[in-house]
Amino acid sequence: MAQQVILSGMQPTGSLHLGNYEGALKNWISLQDDYEMYCCIVDWHSLTSLYDKTEVLKDQIFQMAVDYVAAGLDPEKCAIFVQSQVKEHAELHLLLSMVVPTPWLERVPSYKEKSKSLGLDSYGFLGYPLLQAADILLYRANFVPVGKDQLPHIELTREIARRFNGLYGEVFPEPQDKLTKFAAVPGTDGNRMSKSYGNHICLSDTPEETANKISKMFTDPQKLRKGDPGRPEICPVFTLHQIYSSKEEIEKIDRDCRSGALGCVADKKHLAENINKALAPIRARAAELRANPDTVWDILRDGARKAGEKAGETMQMVREAMRLMQ
Ligand code: SF4
Repeated sequence: MAQQVILSGMQPTGSLHLGNYEGALKNWISLQDDYEMYCCIVDWHSLTSLYDKTEVLKDQIFQMAVDYVAAGLDPEKCAIFVQSQVKEHAELHLLLSMVVPTPWLERVPSYKEKSKSLGLDSYGFLGYPLLQAADILLYRANFVPVGKDQLPHIELTREIARRFNGLYGEVFPEPQDKLTKFAAVPGTDGNRMSKSYGNHICLSDTPEETANKISKMFTDPQKLRKGDPGRPEICPVFTLHQIYSSKEEIEKIDRDCRSGALGCVADKKHLAENINKALAPIRARAAELRANPDTVWDILRDGARKAGEKAGETMQMVREAMRLMQ
């Protein structure tokens, strides 16, 4: 039986942070053996907000591709590619834009929120979820790994697939979400880890940078010094221990934090050591890839070729269904 298809994508924001890795990339890596998988670096999407800073894009794409491969995405098993290198994304976006009513896009929750908070009002920004739908439908994806905030976009993609199929005949499967199970990874200030908050730890940070960032992390505000009893359940350092420390270590930290026997300075050092240990093999592979940039560009070129084959097939089906010239 043919493998089911997964499409996943991230905007090129440069080196990945722990939130990207734990919340998305690890999940993709675990799926690549069982699915026909397309991992897309969606550079056109980033133009909705970065249209006036395009000089950073190429390096951000490169750094992200390095982290994808260093963390374990295998270019032999999945297509790792850049969206703009498969021009069919744009063609399908255009064709879908003819059949999707504007109010469908205006009611997407992130449109209203972000257009206000980021002051974005371009035509491309309104069409963001439509381009995302085109990304997914172009590979006739059965599943899309997403976080909860992206569920309305997948629902919209299903609506678009139904509308297209209803008008022209069955071309697209209705994609389902594959909700990512990982809890949100806290940043150094206790909020969700995000580059836009400046509270992130990157896979590419050095061990010293990592230890330095962790040494400044927020903790339980009631625990001012060693000896004060702490509340690990409200401490972001403890949340990171749950990812990077062993069960025995976590139990001991929980106990010693509450009793006051453990101080935050020592606990943060311990966390930094564990994170650095976990990331050491990824950082070593990333350093090799950065020293051989041609390998990375070749992986992206090869990925675009593989993705382009599938995208080409789909567009032939779409043009035939719509009775357009081939
Ligand atoms: S000892 Fe550790 S878990 Fe407890 S408050 Fe300090 S940093 Fe947080």
